[in-house]
Amino acid sequence: MKYVERVLKNLKKQNPNEPEFHQAATEILTTLAPVVEKHPEYEAAGLLERFVEPERVVMFRVPWVDDKGRVQVNKGYRVQFNSAIGPYKGGLRFHPSVNLSIIKFLGLEQILKNSLTGLPIGGGKGGSNFDPKGKSDREIMAFCQSFMTELFRHIGADTDVPAGDIGVGGREIGFLFGQYKRIRDEHVGVLTGRGLTYGGSLVRTEATGYGLVYITEEALKMRGDSFKGKTVVISGSGNVAIYACEKAQSLGAKVVAMYDSNGYIYDANGIKLDVIKDIKEVRRARIKEYANLVPGSTYTEGCKGIWTIPCDIALPCATQNEIDEASAQTLVKNGVKYVAEGANMPSTLEAIDVFQKAGVVFLPAKAANAGGVATSALEMAQSSGRMFWSFEEVDAKLKNIMVNIYHNIDNAAKEYGYEGNYVMGANIAGFVKVATAMMAHGIV
Ligand code: NDP
Repeated sequence: MKYVERVLKNLKKQNPNEPEFHQAATEILTTLAPVVEKHPEYEAAGLLERFVEPERVVMFRVPWVDDKGRVQVNKGYRVQFNSAIGPYKGGLRFHPSVNLSIIKFLGLEQILKNSLTGLPIGGGKGGSNFDPKGKSDREIMAFCQSFMTELFRHIGADTDVPAGDIGVGGREIGFLFGQYKRIRDEHVGVLTGRGLTYGGSLVRTEATGYGLVYITEEALKMRGDSFKGKTVVISGSGNVAIYACEKAQSLGAKVVAMYDSNGYIYDANGIKLDVIKDIKEVRRARIKEYANLVPGSTYTEGCKGIWTIPCDIALPCATQNEIDEASAQTLVKNGVKYVAEGANMPSTLEAIDVFQKAGVVFLPAKAANAGGVATSALEMAQSSGRMFWSFEEVDAKLKNIMVNIYHNIDNAAKEYGYEGNYVMGANIAGFVKVATAMMAHGIV
């Protein structure tokens, strides 16, 4: 049996009941076969076996008291996956669906994504099955303080630097940072996505969405095209979706649909982003209100239907596995030309296959949404240098990073004979750097 197949088979056997982790590992490892064939020394050094095994997994109890005085208990996780090229770095997700499988899939993806940014950051991920929806600010604070009361001993500015993800935005990072600072008595860059008054970086809020559009813009440009006049569908209406919409609109695209976990809105005249921001960022309400506020728009219950809306460019920005094979086929039938993943693993393996066979330009998450973590690394650089860069400065660096990622994955795909296959390109380009560092460190 070939090396990659053997590692994958063993991984599934040793980590049963972790379907998301299996899915991500399958996607990654199967594309690395040409690299490990070229480098037999990797097999001799057990490199892939070590690559798919987290360096450390921390699981802990998070007890807190709700507004009715009842004790609640959640699960906390931090997977410190790989520190070969820098301190562990990756977000925290608070969502009822969170389990070890999801955190491990995200952590594994994060290793290669962080490598692709070209910055010195390793891969990690964490979170909790806590559901922030419907909780008061006091309950959110109580939860965050309890979560950090355990997490603080595992993280540090040079060890592991968490950030936000689904359910963890500026408010949660503030409470987490406050508790860390109180326990450790140090004001350091231990979390990114911090507020601008306490060490945050300009553009971090916008970074993932803007970065997604910058890399798609570069893919369009290389084909003599642009966002101007394009019809775009964006799933989600959270941090990534909102700023992808903002940047795509500023480049002349018409974004016609978005959703939250209850249903989607369609506005043939182009989404009014100020209305979405007010609903989602200010009032934390449901997207369905949009249809009442904007004449001519409609709301449909349920999410999947969004992929039946014809578009030139689809930007899935909500969550994993939101585009399945059938949705991918519908998108292709309706003429989609570009799919760029803002969310992590939003397309199933079957959906990716449909896009690639149809000649759709498919930009996978680890390349397309790397702008968030790249800007987090820029926040770390500003923190340790006690500097504060302007919006224009950070935005220019972000754009430059995304353009470089595009050419890096394009070149890697070409080098290995898979021109235009950016799944191959991203996995290979990200892996080679990590593998080289791991080989240099010996068997650790
Ligand atoms: P947010 O919590 O800000 O927004 C998530 C959005 O997705 C919301 O609109 C939410 O709807 C929707 N959503 C969440 N779960 C589901 C579900 N199961 N079905 C349908 N809709 C769902 O998260 P982010 O915008 O930060 O993250 C979105 C994606 O981008 C995630 O995959 C994340 O891992 C990825 N990502 C985020 C980065 C960042 O910098 N924030 C960086 C790189 C990747 P509702 O409001 O109803 O919950």
